[in-house]
Amino acid sequence: MVSKPVVSNVSISDLIDFGIFQLSSLAISSDLRQELKQLVASKPYPLLIIGEEGAGKHTIANCLAASYLCHSVESDGSACGKCPSCRMISTSGSHLDLVILDPGPSGRTKVDEVRSEVAARLPEAPRISHNKVFIISAEKADTLSEACQNALLKPLEEHPAFVRFIIFCEDSDRLLPTIRSRVQTLRLAHRNKEEIRQILDEAGIEDSPAKSFALDCSDGLPGVALTLAQDEKYRQIYDESLKIFKAFPRENRTAFLTGGLDFFKANKDSTDMIIRLLQSFLRELSLGLLADKWEPLPAESAAFSDQELADWAKLEIDYEALLGLLSQTKQALSSNTGYDHTISRLLLQMRAKITAGGPGSIPRKSQ
Ligand SMILES: [Zn+2]
Repeated sequence: MVSKPVVSNVSISDLIDFGIFQLSSLAISSDLRQELKQLVASKPYPLLIIGEEGAGKHTIANCLAASYLCHSVESDGSACGKCPSCRMISTSGSHLDLVILDPGPSGRTKVDEVRSEVAARLPEAPRISHNKVFIISAEKADTLSEACQNALLKPLEEHPAFVRFIIFCEDSDRLLPTIRSRVQTLRLAHRNKEEIRQILDEAGIEDSPAKSFALDCSDGLPGVALTLAQDEKYRQIYDESLKIFKAFPRENRTAFLTGGLDFFKANKDSTDMIIRLLQSFLRELSLGLLADKWEPLPAESAAFSDQELADWAKLEIDYEALLGLLSQTKQALSSNTGYDHTISRLLLQMRAKITAGGPGSIPRKSQ
């Protein structure tokens, strides 16, 4: 697939939609706030931001870039929101001195693009700001090939004093040691529930079952919470996921596999939500057993009747193993393994583990 890199003057309108390009507007811990403040004040050493999908890497990279470009940074390191640079960002969602090298969700950056957009443009003096910022995505395993990384080594090492680099990735082990030794790193931790609530509130998301689910099941990842809370298909996907889940011990293997895979494929965009729903059902069933590990779910989210809970309790289910299986699946999907294969394997392995206690333990007729 040919994908054009998103370069200079790109839209960061996603952020502008939420009005977020100032560090001060982020719902983050005071430790992270302090760290970011120091990064804005520190020397222009290339920065590597590491965080899981949905941890807020893009948002923080863009806020830092806005700070680097701002003409009168606030005392907390935040962009002022009023200077010509900030106005350019807030009105157009772009900036003449900002270069973003990001091939998009499925793309790979080409080595020529690193040369033409980064190496060749390094000496160009900034046009509006006193700094020039390069944001480079190394998000997925294959976003930035080894050749691309090699082409970046010299720019990272030798660049004019006005240049600032912000690279981001999910897993720094995927980067060459020579890159890792040339950057300072910022690792994004998970946010707490209050911070997530603040992020959802500030995005104008009204209270709803989807929002409650996002608060409980986004693992403290803001990007995940925003996606979950705004998925308009939430109710439908919840109902269908629960139906599939309850069919694990009941339906025969082939019918179950076909139905389950069709459901996943038809809702591929919401795969993360489906997997998180399956995790939440397991959590609900296992509360008695793993109570010390999970926060209790709110009563209104009860997915199982008392009778169903009693039936499921008869199956001797290894919940830890099932939850592990779901985490592994999320990881496999993020490193671009075949979708159908990964999901089929998940469904079959889950079914095998659920029915391991013996078939027929759960009545075939529901309710
Ligand atoms: Zn400003």
